[in-house]
Amino acid sequence: MKAVYTDVLIIGSGIAGLVCAEKLSRTLNVRVVTHSKMQSCNSYFAQGGIAASIGSEDSWEEHLADTMEAGAGHCNFHAAHLLLKEGKNIYQYLSEIGVEFDTNEDGSIIFGLEGGHRKKRILHAGGDQTGKFIVNALYKKLQERKVFTYGTAADLIMKDGRCCGAWYKTESGADIAVFAAYTIMCTGGFAGLYDTTTNVRQASGSGIAMAYRAGAALCDLEFVQFHPTLLKQNGKVWGLISEAVRGEGARLIDNTGKLLMEKIHPLKDLAPRDVVAREIQRALEAGKSVFLDISVIADFESRFPSITKMCRAAGIEPGQGMIPAVPGAHFTMGGIITDDRGRSTIEGLYAAGECARTGIHGANRLASNSLLEGAGMAMKISETILQQTALEKMPENHGNAAFPVEFAGNGGCSLPELHVIKEGLSRCAGIVRKEETMAGFADFLERYPSIKPDVNHSLSDLEKINAHVMAWLAVTSALKRCESRGGHYRSDYPHPREEWHFKIIERRIDIDEQTAALREAAGIFY
Ligand SMILES: Cc1cc2nc3c(=O)[nH]c(=O)nc-3n(C[C@H](O)[C@H](O)[C@H](O)COP(=O)(O)OP(=O)(O)OC[C@H]3O[C@@H](n4cnc5c(N)ncnc54)[C@H](O)[C@@H]3O)c2cc1C
Repeated sequence: MKAVYTDVLIIGSGIAGLVCAEKLSRTLNVRVVTHSKMQSCNSYFAQGGIAASIGSEDSWEEHLADTMEAGAGHCNFHAAHLLLKEGKNIYQYLSEIGVEFDTNEDGSIIFGLEGGHRKKRILHAGGDQTGKFIVNALYKKLQERKVFTYGTAADLIMKDGRCCGAWYKTESGADIAVFAAYTIMCTGGFAGLYDTTTNVRQASGSGIAMAYRAGAALCDLEFVQFHPTLLKQNGKVWGLISEAVRGEGARLIDNTGKLLMEKIHPLKDLAPRDVVAREIQRALEAGKSVFLDISVIADFESRFPSITKMCRAAGIEPGQGMIPAVPGAHFTMGGIITDDRGRSTIEGLYAAGECARTGIHGANRLASNSLLEGAGMAMKISETILQQTALEKMPENHGNAAFPVEFAGNGGCSLPELHVIKEGLSRCAGIVRKEETMAGFADFLERYPSIKPDVNHSLSDLEKINAHVMAWLAVTSALKRCESRGGHYRSDYPHPREEWHFKIIERRIDIDEQTAALREAAGIFY
Protein backbone atom coordinates (compact mmCIF):
# COMPACT_ATOMS: atom_id res chain seq x y z
CA MET A 1 0.00 0.00 0.00
CA LYS A 2 1.25 3.45 -0.87
CA ALA A 3 2.06 5.56 2.21
CA VAL A 4 2.14 9.35 2.55
CA TYR A 5 3.18 11.49 5.51
CA THR A 6 1.77 14.75 6.77
CA ASP A 7 1.59 16.89 9.91
CA VAL A 8 -2.21 16.88 10.07
CA LEU A 9 -4.75 14.56 8.48
CA ILE A 10 -8.31 15.90 8.32
CA ILE A 11 -11.08 13.50 7.32
CA GLY A 12 -14.11 15.27 5.81
CA SER A 13 -14.70 18.67 4.24
CA GLY A 14 -17.82 20.17 5.81
CA ILE A 15 -17.55 23.33 7.89
CA ALA A 16 -15.48 21.60 10.61
CA GLY A 17 -12.93 20.05 8.24
CA LEU A 18 -12.63 23.16 6.08
CA VAL A 19 -12.08 25.54 9.00
CA CYS A 20 -9.39 23.20 10.44
CA ALA A 21 -7.77 23.02 6.99
CA GLU A 22 -7.89 26.78 6.44
CA LYS A 23 -6.37 27.56 9.84
CA LEU A 24 -3.75 24.80 9.96
CA SER A 25 -2.54 24.83 6.34
CA ARG A 26 -1.28 28.39 6.79
CA THR A 27 1.77 26.93 8.56
CA LEU A 28 1.56 23.13 8.60
CA ASN A 29 1.50 20.36 6.07
CA VAL A 30 -2.18 19.35 5.87
CA ARG A 31 -4.01 16.67 3.94
CA VAL A 32 -7.81 16.56 3.73
CA VAL A 33 -9.22 13.17 2.74
CA THR A 34 -12.79 13.61 1.59
CA HIS A 35 -15.45 12.56 -0.88
CA SER A 36 -14.98 14.16 -4.24
CA LYS A 37 -17.75 16.73 -4.43
CA MET A 38 -18.00 20.00 -2.54
CA GLN A 39 -21.72 19.25 -2.13
CA SER A 40 -21.12 15.87 -0.42
CA CYS A 41 -21.57 17.45 2.99
CA ASN A 42 -24.46 18.71 5.08
CA SER A 43 -22.74 22.04 5.67
CA TYR A 44 -23.30 23.05 2.05
CA PHE A 45 -27.08 22.69 2.47
CA ALA A 46 -27.48 24.58 5.76
CA GLN A 47 -30.21 27.11 5.13
CA GLY A 48 -31.30 28.92 8.29
CA GLY A 49 -27.92 30.24 9.34
CA ILE A 50 -25.55 30.40 12.25
CA ALA A 51 -26.63 31.41 15.75
CA ALA A 52 -24.52 34.10 17.45
CA SER A 53 -25.59 36.44 20.23
CA ILE A 54 -23.86 39.51 18.83
CA GLY A 55 -26.82 41.88 18.50
CA SER A 56 -26.94 44.89 20.83
CA GLU A 57 -30.11 43.54 22.48
CA ASP A 58 -28.67 40.08 22.99
CA SER A 59 -26.15 38.32 25.26
CA TRP A 60 -24.36 34.97 25.38
CA GLU A 61 -26.10 34.32 28.69
CA GLU A 62 -29.52 34.43 26.99
CA HIS A 63 -28.23 32.26 24.16
CA LEU A 64 -26.94 29.80 26.77
CA ALA A 65 -30.31 29.74 28.56
CA ASP A 66 -32.08 28.86 25.28
CA THR A 67 -29.44 26.22 24.43
CA MET A 68 -29.79 24.59 27.87
CA GLU A 69 -33.56 24.56 27.66
CA ALA A 70 -33.59 22.94 24.22
CA GLY A 71 -30.98 20.43 25.47
CA ALA A 72 -33.54 19.03 27.95
CA GLY A 73 -31.31 18.99 31.02
CA HIS A 74 -28.51 17.10 29.26
CA CYS A 75 -26.18 19.90 28.06
CA ASN A 76 -22.62 20.21 29.25
CA PHE A 77 -22.86 23.68 30.78
CA HIS A 78 -19.10 24.27 30.68
CA ALA A 79 -18.71 23.32 27.01
CA ALA A 80 -21.82 25.26 25.98
CA HIS A 81 -20.84 28.49 27.71
CA LEU A 82 -17.30 28.36 26.29
CA LEU A 83 -18.65 28.03 22.75
CA LEU A 84 -21.47 30.55 22.98
CA LYS A 85 -19.12 33.23 24.33
CA GLU A 86 -17.11 32.81 21.11
CA GLY A 87 -20.00 33.90 18.85
CA LYS A 88 -18.38 37.21 17.96
CA ASN A 89 -14.96 35.68 17.16
CA ILE A 90 -16.55 33.04 14.96
CA TYR A 91 -18.58 35.69 13.11
CA GLN A 92 -15.45 37.82 12.63
CA TYR A 93 -13.41 34.89 11.33
CA LEU A 94 -16.09 33.89 8.82
CA SER A 95 -16.43 37.49 7.65
CA GLU A 96 -12.66 37.78 7.26
CA ILE A 97 -12.47 34.72 5.03
CA GLY A 98 -15.12 36.26 2.80
CA VAL A 99 -18.58 35.15 3.97
CA GLU A 100 -20.95 38.03 3.27
CA PHE A 101 -23.75 37.84 5.80
CA ASP A 102 -27.05 39.50 4.88
CA THR A 103 -27.32 43.11 6.02
CA ASN A 104 -29.85 45.93 5.97
CA GLU A 105 -29.30 48.90 3.69
CA ASP A 106 -27.46 50.72 6.50
CA GLY A 107 -24.98 47.82 6.77
CA SER A 108 -26.35 46.43 10.04
CA ILE A 109 -26.68 42.64 10.25
CA ILE A 110 -30.10 41.10 9.66
CA PHE A 111 -30.85 38.65 12.48
CA GLY A 112 -33.35 35.85 11.85
CA LEU A 113 -35.44 33.99 14.42
CA GLU A 114 -35.68 30.21 14.77
CA GLY A 115 -37.44 27.74 17.05
CA GLY A 116 -36.35 27.72 20.70
CA HIS A 117 -34.56 31.11 20.44
CA ARG A 118 -36.09 33.92 22.44
CA LYS A 119 -34.08 36.52 20.51
CA LYS A 120 -33.45 37.13 16.83
CA ARG A 121 -29.82 35.95 16.54
CA ILE A 122 -29.49 33.87 13.37
CA LEU A 123 -26.96 35.32 10.91
CA HIS A 124 -27.67 34.24 7.37
CA ALA A 125 -26.11 34.65 3.93
CA GLY A 126 -27.72 34.68 0.50
CA GLY A 127 -31.13 34.48 2.21
CA ASP A 128 -31.35 30.74 2.84
CA GLN A 129 -27.94 29.76 1.40
CA THR A 130 -25.73 30.24 4.47
CA GLY A 131 -24.02 26.85 4.23
CA LYS A 132 -23.24 27.26 0.54
CA PHE A 133 -21.75 30.73 1.12
CA ILE A 134 -19.55 29.46 3.98
CA VAL A 135 -18.34 26.35 2.13
CA ASN A 136 -17.64 28.36 -1.04
CA ALA A 137 -15.63 30.97 0.88
CA LEU A 138 -13.53 28.30 2.59
CA TYR A 139 -12.90 26.39 -0.65
CA LYS A 140 -11.81 29.63 -2.30
CA LYS A 141 -9.29 30.25 0.48
CA LEU A 142 -7.96 26.69 0.17
CA GLN A 143 -7.80 26.63 -3.63
CA GLU A 144 -4.10 27.45 -3.87
CA ARG A 145 -3.01 25.33 -0.93
CA LYS A 146 -3.44 21.90 -2.53
CA VAL A 147 -4.71 20.13 0.57
CA PHE A 148 -7.46 17.92 -0.90
CA THR A 149 -7.17 14.21 -1.64
CA TYR A 150 -10.30 12.42 -2.76
CA GLY A 151 -11.41 9.06 -1.42
CA THR A 152 -13.25 7.28 1.38
CA ALA A 153 -11.46 6.87 4.69
CA ALA A 154 -11.75 3.22 5.72
CA ASP A 155 -10.10 2.91 9.11
CA LEU A 156 -7.77 4.62 11.55
CA ILE A 157 -4.15 3.52 11.87
CA MET A 158 -3.23 2.80 15.48
CA LYS A 159 0.07 2.11 17.20
CA ASP A 160 0.43 1.50 20.96
CA GLY A 161 -2.98 3.08 21.61
CA ARG A 162 -2.12 6.20 19.63
CA CYS A 163 -3.80 7.30 16.40
CA CYS A 164 -1.18 7.70 13.64
CA GLY A 165 -3.46 8.49 10.69
CA ALA A 166 -5.90 6.57 8.52
CA TRP A 167 -6.07 4.63 5.27
CA TYR A 168 -8.47 5.37 2.48
CA LYS A 169 -9.72 3.97 -0.81
CA THR A 170 -10.05 6.01 -3.98
CA GLU A 171 -12.90 5.74 -6.51
CA SER A 172 -10.58 3.69 -8.74
CA GLY A 173 -9.91 1.25 -5.89
CA ALA A 174 -6.38 2.34 -4.90
CA ASP A 175 -5.58 2.08 -1.17
CA ILE A 176 -3.43 4.74 0.47
CA ALA A 177 -2.20 5.07 4.07
CA VAL A 178 -1.78 8.59 5.45
CA PHE A 179 0.49 8.80 8.49
CA ALA A 180 0.02 11.97 10.52
CA ALA A 181 1.07 13.47 13.84
CA TYR A 182 -2.54 14.62 14.36
CA THR A 183 -5.74 13.21 12.90
CA ILE A 184 -8.95 15.25 13.00
CA MET A 185 -12.23 13.44 12.39
CA CYS A 186 -14.72 15.79 10.69
CA THR A 187 -17.00 13.24 9.00
CA GLY A 188 -20.39 14.57 10.17
CA GLY A 189 -23.25 12.75 11.89
CA PHE A 190 -25.36 9.68 11.03
CA ALA A 191 -28.83 11.07 10.24
CA GLY A 192 -28.18 10.06 6.61
CA LEU A 193 -28.78 6.45 7.73
CA TYR A 194 -32.52 7.15 8.00
CA ASP A 195 -34.93 6.65 5.10
CA THR A 196 -36.60 10.06 5.44
CA THR A 197 -33.78 12.49 6.04
CA THR A 198 -32.52 15.97 5.24
CA ASN A 199 -28.95 14.68 5.17
CA VAL A 200 -26.60 13.78 2.34
CA ARG A 201 -25.84 10.09 1.85
CA GLN A 202 -22.29 10.60 3.18
CA ALA A 203 -23.67 11.51 6.64
CA SER A 204 -23.58 7.85 7.61
CA GLY A 205 -21.55 7.93 10.82
CA SER A 206 -18.49 6.33 9.20
CA GLY A 207 -16.08 8.44 11.29
CA ILE A 208 -17.90 7.55 14.50
CA ALA A 209 -17.71 3.85 13.56
CA MET A 210 -13.96 4.15 12.76
CA ALA A 211 -13.28 5.86 16.10
CA TYR A 212 -15.28 3.16 17.93
CA ARG A 213 -13.26 0.37 16.30
CA ALA A 214 -10.06 2.17 17.32
CA GLY A 215 -11.19 2.27 20.98
CA ALA A 216 -12.49 5.86 21.36
CA ALA A 217 -15.29 6.56 23.83
CA LEU A 218 -18.63 7.64 22.31
CA CYS A 219 -21.89 8.75 23.89
CA ASP A 220 -25.38 10.24 23.44
CA LEU A 221 -26.01 8.14 20.31
CA GLU A 222 -29.66 7.69 21.33
CA PHE A 223 -30.40 11.39 20.75
CA VAL A 224 -31.49 12.05 17.16
CA GLN A 225 -33.15 15.28 16.12
CA PHE A 226 -36.03 14.94 13.68
CA HIS A 227 -36.76 18.11 11.76
CA PRO A 228 -40.49 18.82 11.62
CA THR A 229 -40.68 20.13 8.06
CA LEU A 230 -39.27 18.24 5.09
CA LEU A 231 -40.77 18.50 1.65
CA LYS A 232 -41.76 15.00 0.49
CA GLN A 233 -43.73 14.63 -2.72
CA ASN A 234 -44.59 11.40 -4.53
CA GLY A 235 -42.39 9.37 -2.17
CA LYS A 236 -39.30 11.51 -2.78
CA VAL A 237 -37.67 13.71 -0.14
CA TRP A 238 -36.85 16.99 -1.87
CA GLY A 239 -35.21 18.69 1.09
CA LEU A 240 -35.69 20.83 4.13
CA ILE A 241 -38.05 23.72 4.70
CA SER A 242 -36.01 25.74 7.16
CA GLU A 243 -37.32 26.66 10.58
CA ALA A 244 -36.62 30.25 9.57
CA VAL A 245 -39.86 29.97 7.53
CA ARG A 246 -41.80 29.51 10.78
CA GLY A 247 -39.58 32.23 12.28
CA GLU A 248 -41.01 34.58 9.64
CA GLY A 249 -44.57 33.70 10.66
CA ALA A 250 -45.58 30.51 8.79
CA ARG A 251 -47.98 28.24 10.74
CA LEU A 252 -48.48 24.47 10.72
CA ILE A 253 -51.99 23.53 9.74
CA ASP A 254 -53.68 20.20 8.97
CA ASN A 255 -56.08 19.41 6.14
CA THR A 256 -59.08 20.12 8.39
CA GLY A 257 -57.81 23.68 8.92
CA LYS A 258 -56.68 23.06 12.53
CA LEU A 259 -53.60 25.00 13.67
CA LEU A 260 -51.45 22.11 14.80
CA MET A 261 -49.32 23.69 17.55
CA GLU A 262 -51.94 26.01 19.03
CA LYS A 263 -52.51 24.28 22.39
CA ILE A 264 -49.43 22.09 22.46
CA HIS A 265 -46.61 24.38 23.63
CA PRO A 266 -46.28 28.03 24.71
CA LEU A 267 -43.88 28.68 21.80
CA LYS A 268 -46.47 27.21 19.40
CA ASP A 269 -44.94 26.69 15.91
CA LEU A 270 -41.50 27.60 17.25
CA ALA A 271 -41.56 24.99 20.02
CA PRO A 272 -38.51 22.68 20.26
CA ARG A 273 -38.15 20.45 17.22
CA ASP A 274 -38.92 17.16 18.97
CA VAL A 275 -42.26 18.52 20.19
CA VAL A 276 -43.26 19.82 16.74
CA ALA A 277 -42.01 16.70 14.90
CA ARG A 278 -44.02 14.37 17.17
CA GLU A 279 -47.16 16.43 16.71
CA ILE A 280 -46.86 16.25 12.92
CA GLN A 281 -46.12 12.52 13.11
CA ARG A 282 -49.25 12.03 15.25
CA ALA A 283 -51.39 13.89 12.70
CA LEU A 284 -49.92 11.88 9.80
CA GLU A 285 -50.51 8.59 11.63
CA ALA A 286 -54.13 9.69 12.13
CA GLY A 287 -54.41 9.89 8.34
CA LYS A 288 -54.22 13.68 8.06
CA SER A 289 -51.98 15.81 5.87
CA VAL A 290 -49.93 18.66 7.30
CA PHE A 291 -48.98 21.93 5.57
CA LEU A 292 -46.97 25.04 6.27
CA ASP A 293 -49.23 28.01 5.73
CA ILE A 294 -46.78 30.60 4.34
CA SER A 295 -49.39 33.08 3.13
CA VAL A 296 -48.36 35.69 5.74
CA ILE A 297 -44.79 35.93 4.35
CA ALA A 298 -45.07 38.67 1.74
CA ASP A 299 -41.58 38.37 0.19
CA PHE A 300 -41.24 34.57 0.44
CA GLU A 301 -39.45 34.13 -2.89
CA SER A 302 -36.70 36.70 -2.18
CA ARG A 303 -36.25 35.68 1.47
CA PHE A 304 -36.18 31.94 0.67
CA PRO A 305 -34.89 31.56 -2.90
CA SER A 306 -33.58 27.98 -2.47
CA ILE A 307 -36.78 26.74 -0.85
CA THR A 308 -38.84 28.39 -3.59
CA LYS A 309 -36.72 26.65 -6.23
CA MET A 310 -37.03 23.30 -4.45
CA CYS A 311 -40.83 23.63 -4.15
CA ARG A 312 -41.18 24.41 -7.85
CA ALA A 313 -38.97 21.45 -8.77
CA ALA A 314 -41.32 19.26 -6.70
CA GLY A 315 -44.35 20.72 -8.49
CA ILE A 316 -45.53 22.97 -5.65
CA GLU A 317 -46.13 26.68 -6.19
CA PRO A 318 -45.23 28.62 -3.00
CA GLY A 319 -47.28 31.55 -4.29
CA GLN A 320 -50.40 29.51 -3.43
CA GLY A 321 -49.46 29.73 0.25
CA MET A 322 -49.31 26.07 1.32
CA ILE A 323 -46.32 23.70 1.41
CA PRO A 324 -46.83 20.06 2.51
CA ALA A 325 -44.57 19.01 5.41
CA VAL A 326 -43.39 15.73 6.98
CA PRO A 327 -40.78 15.18 9.73
CA GLY A 328 -37.44 13.47 9.04
CA ALA A 329 -34.04 12.71 10.58
CA HIS A 330 -31.90 15.83 10.63
CA PHE A 331 -29.13 15.96 13.23
CA THR A 332 -27.42 13.53 15.58
CA MET A 333 -26.39 14.88 18.97
CA GLY A 334 -24.07 12.02 19.94
CA GLY A 335 -20.68 10.97 18.66
CA ILE A 336 -17.01 10.83 19.61
CA ILE A 337 -16.55 12.23 23.13
CA THR A 338 -14.29 15.28 23.04
CA ASP A 339 -13.08 17.74 25.64
CA ASP A 340 -13.20 21.53 25.32
CA ARG A 341 -10.15 21.44 23.00
CA GLY A 342 -11.67 18.82 20.71
CA ARG A 343 -9.47 15.96 21.96
CA SER A 344 -10.98 12.47 21.87
CA THR A 345 -10.07 9.79 24.40
CA ILE A 346 -7.44 8.47 21.94
CA GLU A 347 -4.08 10.21 21.85
CA GLY A 348 -3.51 11.93 18.51
CA LEU A 349 -7.20 11.84 17.52
CA TYR A 350 -9.38 14.98 17.54
CA ALA A 351 -12.98 15.34 16.40
CA ALA A 352 -15.03 18.37 15.38
CA GLY A 353 -18.50 19.08 14.02
CA GLU A 354 -21.38 16.68 14.04
CA CYS A 355 -19.28 13.52 14.51
CA ALA A 356 -18.08 14.87 17.87
CA ARG A 357 -19.98 14.88 21.12
CA THR A 358 -18.98 18.00 23.02
CA GLY A 359 -22.16 17.98 25.12
CA ILE A 360 -23.12 21.45 23.87
CA HIS A 361 -26.38 20.26 22.32
CA GLY A 362 -27.44 18.01 25.19
CA ALA A 363 -30.38 15.80 24.25
CA ASN A 364 -31.63 18.20 21.57
CA ARG A 365 -29.73 20.78 19.53
CA LEU A 366 -30.98 24.34 19.45
CA ALA A 367 -31.53 25.43 15.84
CA SER A 368 -28.46 26.89 14.09
CA ASN A 369 -26.07 26.03 16.92
CA SER A 370 -24.31 23.36 14.85
CA LEU A 371 -22.56 25.52 12.26
CA LEU A 372 -21.42 27.59 15.23
CA GLU A 373 -20.13 24.48 16.98
CA GLY A 374 -18.46 23.11 13.82
CA ALA A 375 -16.57 26.35 13.18
CA GLY A 376 -15.91 27.10 16.86
CA MET A 377 -14.48 23.69 17.76
CA ALA A 378 -12.42 23.59 14.55
CA MET A 379 -10.89 26.93 15.56
CA LYS A 380 -10.20 25.58 19.05
CA ILE A 381 -8.53 22.40 17.72
CA SER A 382 -6.40 24.40 15.29
CA GLU A 383 -5.29 26.70 18.09
CA THR A 384 -4.44 23.69 20.28
CA ILE A 385 -2.37 21.98 17.58
CA LEU A 386 -0.58 25.22 16.68
CA GLN A 387 0.21 25.84 20.34
CA GLN A 388 2.12 22.58 20.74
CA THR A 389 5.68 23.70 21.43
CA ALA A 390 7.05 21.30 18.84
CA LEU A 391 5.16 19.04 16.53
CA GLU A 392 5.22 15.51 17.81
CA LYS A 393 7.74 13.30 16.10
CA MET A 394 6.61 12.62 12.55
CA PRO A 395 5.71 9.00 11.92
CA GLU A 396 7.85 9.34 8.77
CA ASN A 397 10.82 8.56 10.96
CA HIS A 398 9.41 5.16 11.83
CA GLY A 399 8.66 4.05 8.30
CA ASN A 400 5.56 2.21 7.21
CA ALA A 401 6.90 -1.25 8.10
CA ALA A 402 7.29 -0.37 11.77
CA PHE A 403 3.54 0.03 12.21
CA PRO A 404 1.73 -3.08 13.33
CA VAL A 405 -1.17 -2.30 11.02
CA GLU A 406 -2.92 -5.08 9.25
CA PHE A 407 -4.71 -3.92 6.15
CA ALA A 408 -4.83 -7.30 4.49
CA GLY A 409 -7.89 -9.55 4.69
CA ASN A 410 -10.18 -11.68 2.60
CA GLY A 411 -12.75 -8.95 1.90
CA GLY A 412 -15.55 -11.04 3.43
CA CYS A 413 -18.67 -8.93 3.97
CA SER A 414 -21.68 -11.04 4.92
CA LEU A 415 -23.78 -8.10 6.08
CA PRO A 416 -27.34 -6.96 5.34
CA GLU A 417 -27.75 -4.54 2.44
CA LEU A 418 -27.59 -0.82 3.23
CA HIS A 419 -31.29 -0.28 2.47
CA VAL A 420 -32.19 -3.02 4.98
CA ILE A 421 -30.11 -1.34 7.70
CA LYS A 422 -31.70 2.03 6.92
CA GLU A 423 -35.23 0.65 6.92
CA GLY A 424 -34.64 -1.07 10.29
CA LEU A 425 -33.14 2.01 11.90
CA SER A 426 -35.96 4.23 10.63
CA ARG A 427 -38.67 1.86 11.82
CA CYS A 428 -37.14 0.97 15.20
CA ALA A 429 -35.18 4.05 16.29
CA GLY A 430 -37.28 6.80 14.70
CA ILE A 431 -39.39 9.62 16.16
CA VAL A 432 -41.27 7.25 18.50
CA ARG A 433 -39.42 4.22 19.91
CA LYS A 434 -40.30 1.26 22.10
CA GLU A 435 -38.43 -1.66 23.61
CA GLU A 436 -39.88 -4.48 21.56
CA THR A 437 -39.05 -3.10 18.12
CA MET A 438 -35.63 -1.79 19.15
CA ALA A 439 -34.68 -5.12 20.73
CA GLY A 440 -35.81 -6.95 17.59
CA PHE A 441 -33.62 -4.79 15.35
CA ALA A 442 -30.63 -5.05 17.72
CA ASP A 443 -30.99 -8.87 17.65
CA PHE A 444 -31.13 -8.81 13.87
CA LEU A 445 -27.92 -6.75 13.62
CA GLU A 446 -26.16 -8.94 16.18
CA ARG A 447 -26.69 -12.00 14.00
CA TYR A 448 -24.00 -10.57 11.71
CA PRO A 449 -20.30 -10.37 12.62
CA SER A 450 -18.49 -7.07 13.26
CA ILE A 451 -16.12 -6.69 10.36
CA LYS A 452 -12.83 -4.81 10.24
CA PRO A 453 -12.29 -3.08 6.89
CA ASP A 454 -9.49 -4.49 4.74
CA VAL A 455 -8.09 -3.63 1.33
CA ASN A 456 -10.17 -6.31 -0.38
CA HIS A 457 -13.41 -4.61 0.58
CA SER A 458 -15.12 -2.51 -2.08
CA LEU A 459 -16.38 1.02 -1.41
CA SER A 460 -19.92 -0.29 -1.00
CA ASP A 461 -18.68 -2.95 1.46
CA LEU A 462 -17.02 -0.19 3.51
CA GLU A 463 -20.31 1.72 3.56
CA LYS A 464 -22.18 -1.36 4.83
CA ILE A 465 -19.54 -2.23 7.44
CA ASN A 466 -19.71 1.21 9.01
CA ALA A 467 -23.50 1.51 8.71
CA HIS A 468 -23.92 -1.85 10.46
CA VAL A 469 -21.80 -0.74 13.46
CA MET A 470 -23.37 2.72 13.56
CA ALA A 471 -26.97 1.47 13.45
CA TRP A 472 -26.22 -1.10 16.15
CA LEU A 473 -24.63 1.54 18.41
CA ALA A 474 -27.60 3.89 17.91
CA VAL A 475 -30.36 1.36 18.51
CA THR A 476 -28.69 -0.31 21.50
CA SER A 477 -28.02 3.10 23.11
CA ALA A 478 -31.70 4.00 22.62
CA LEU A 479 -32.72 0.66 24.12
CA LYS A 480 -30.64 1.31 27.22
CA ARG A 481 -32.12 4.74 28.04
CA CYS A 482 -35.48 3.92 29.66
CA GLU A 483 -37.00 7.40 29.56
CA SER A 484 -37.89 10.13 27.05
CA ARG A 485 -35.68 13.17 26.80
CA GLY A 486 -35.03 15.62 23.95
CA GLY A 487 -34.46 13.75 20.71
CA HIS A 488 -35.11 10.36 22.31
CA TYR A 489 -38.82 9.60 22.73
CA ARG A 490 -40.10 6.23 23.91
CA SER A 491 -43.79 5.38 23.97
CA ASP A 492 -43.10 2.87 26.78
CA TYR A 493 -41.38 5.57 28.90
CA PRO A 494 -43.02 8.78 27.63
CA HIS A 495 -41.52 11.19 30.21
CA PRO A 496 -38.09 12.22 31.47
CA ARG A 497 -37.16 10.20 34.57
CA GLU A 498 -35.19 11.61 37.46
CA GLU A 499 -33.03 8.48 37.72
CA TRP A 500 -31.76 9.13 34.17
CA HIS A 501 -31.04 12.82 34.68
CA PHE A 502 -27.30 13.56 34.14
CA LYS A 503 -26.66 9.91 33.22
CA ILE A 504 -24.82 9.10 30.02
CA ILE A 505 -24.66 6.01 27.89
CA GLU A 506 -21.06 5.63 26.87
CA ARG A 507 -19.86 3.16 24.25
CA ARG A 508 -16.35 1.69 24.07
CA ILE A 509 -15.29 -1.39 22.22
CA ASP A 510 -12.85 -2.52 24.89
CA ILE A 511 -14.72 -2.04 28.16
CA ASP A 512 -14.47 -4.97 30.57
CA GLU A 513 -17.34 -6.03 32.83
CA GLN A 514 -15.63 -4.97 36.05
CA THR A 515 -14.94 -1.41 34.83
CA ALA A 516 -18.45 -1.14 33.38
CA ALA A 517 -19.96 -2.14 36.74
CA LEU A 518 -17.80 0.42 38.58
CA ARG A 519 -18.79 3.19 36.20
CA GLU A 520 -22.50 2.41 36.39
CA ALA A 521 -22.36 3.51 40.01
CA ALA A 522 -21.13 6.90 38.75
CA GLY A 523 -23.95 7.23 36.21
CA ILE A 524 -22.02 6.09 33.14
CA PHE A 525 -23.82 3.19 31.48
CA TYR A 526 -22.60 0.79 28.81
C1 LIG B 1 -30.52 20.47 4.97
C2 LIG B 1 -29.80 20.88 6.22
C3 LIG B 1 -29.94 22.17 6.72
C4 LIG B 1 -29.25 22.56 7.86
N1 LIG B 1 -29.36 23.85 8.29
C5 LIG B 1 -28.59 24.26 9.33
C6 LIG B 1 -28.57 25.63 9.71
O1 LIG B 1 -29.22 26.47 9.11
N2 LIG B 1 -27.77 25.98 10.75
C7 LIG B 1 -27.01 25.08 11.45
O2 LIG B 1 -26.31 25.46 12.39
N3 LIG B 1 -27.02 23.78 11.09
C8 LIG B 1 -27.78 23.35 10.06
N4 LIG B 1 -27.76 22.03 9.69
C9 LIG B 1 -26.85 21.12 10.39
C10 LIG B 1 -25.43 21.41 9.92
O3 LIG B 1 -25.45 21.65 8.53
C11 LIG B 1 -24.49 20.25 10.22
O4 LIG B 1 -24.61 19.85 11.55
C12 LIG B 1 -23.05 20.70 9.98
O5 LIG B 1 -22.94 21.25 8.70
C13 LIG B 1 -22.12 19.52 10.13
O6 LIG B 1 -20.85 19.93 9.70
P1 LIG B 1 -19.68 18.87 9.68
O7 LIG B 1 -18.49 19.57 9.14
O8 LIG B 1 -19.57 18.22 10.99
O9 LIG B 1 -20.19 17.71 8.69
P2 LIG B 1 -20.61 17.74 7.17
O10 LIG B 1 -20.88 19.09 6.68
O11 LIG B 1 -21.70 16.73 7.01
O12 LIG B 1 -19.30 17.21 6.44
C14 LIG B 1 -18.82 15.90 6.62
C15 LIG B 1 -17.75 15.63 5.58
O13 LIG B 1 -17.14 14.36 5.80
C16 LIG B 1 -17.08 13.64 4.57
N5 LIG B 1 -17.01 12.22 4.92
C17 LIG B 1 -17.88 11.48 5.66
N6 LIG B 1 -17.42 10.22 5.80
C18 LIG B 1 -16.23 10.17 5.14
C19 LIG B 1 -15.27 9.14 4.92
N7 LIG B 1 -15.42 7.91 5.41
N8 LIG B 1 -14.17 9.44 4.18
C20 LIG B 1 -13.98 10.69 3.66
N9 LIG B 1 -14.85 11.70 3.85
C21 LIG B 1 -15.96 11.44 4.58
C22 LIG B 1 -18.33 14.09 3.84
O14 LIG B 1 -18.29 13.82 2.47
C23 LIG B 1 -18.28 15.59 4.16
O15 LIG B 1 -17.35 16.23 3.32
C24 LIG B 1 -28.45 21.62 8.56
C25 LIG B 1 -28.33 20.32 8.08
C26 LIG B 1 -28.99 19.95 6.92
C27 LIG B 1 -28.84 18.55 6.41
